[in-house]
Amino acid sequence: MKLILLGAPGAGKGTQAKRLEEAYGIVQLSTGDMLRAEVASGSDLGKELKAVMEAGNLVTDELIISMISSRVDQDDCAKGYILDGFPRTTAQAEALDSMLEEKGQKLDSVIEMEVDEEVLVGRITGRYTCAKCGQGYHDEFQKPAKEGVCDKCGATEFTRRADDNEETVRSRLVAYREQTAPIASHYDAKGMLKKVDGMADIDEVTSQLKAILG
Ligand code: ADP
Ligand code: ADP
Ligand code: ZN
Repeated sequence: MKLILLGAPGAGKGTQAKRLEEAYGIVQLSTGDMLRAEVASGSDLGKELKAVMEAGNLVTDELIISMISSRVDQDDCAKGYILDGFPRTTAQAEALDSMLEEKGQKLDSVIEMEVDEEVLVGRITGRYTCAKCGQGYHDEFQKPAKEGVCDKCGATEFTRRADDNEETVRSRLVAYREQTAPIASHYDAKGMLKKVDGMADIDEVTSQLKAILG
């Protein structure tokens, strides 16, 4: 199964992708996570990426496309994958079409998670992640059962993203509106676009996604 989760920053793509990974035995391919790994490596490329990401801008299409193209060839993608955070521009969507055609692959679903813009800022500024296993949390909406302890792995260290501050979020939302939102019509025109209500609670969104994916 191969699918795209579309949605603004904070829409819940990562949260749901992790649940779908477990439910369907497919892998989450988050371009944001891949870029953050490059930044963490301290490479020259990482240093360039860090500046772009902290300004809330998008990195170049060429870099992202080559990153994804080699990633989907790896063995763990054989059963399928969830694209989270890609494609993010019309050029990326078109490059993905050609890439899939060349590899003889086909997308099963493109699902847009709809969330009102006012809600997104609060979701992003309250977001944090387990430093050990990557489980996502939220200060208000998704707390661990025991405060300060990860539900999944028991770790007690958590991290917040450098770009999850209000100022950067505003720029990311502008980038989303101007560069990413238009790609929904790219898939709608092919009759592939489905939508879920991303305002619902986390379990309800998962149920809506499973109803579509079967
Ligand atoms: P994205 O990957 O689309 O940027 P995340 O999955 O990281 O979004 O979600 C952003 C934040 O909002 C996280 O802290 C997450 O715990 C929380 N969140 C995700 N889905 C919901 C939801 N349906 N209702 C409330 N909070 C949510
Ligand atoms: P979000 O939680 O906003 O959905 P991501 O983790 O997907 O965030 O992306 C974080 C940052 O990484 C973006 O603001 C952008 O700078 C960069 N990025 C991630 N994916 C892409 C992409 N497909 N094209 C261009 N830039 C990207
Ligand atoms: Zn953990």
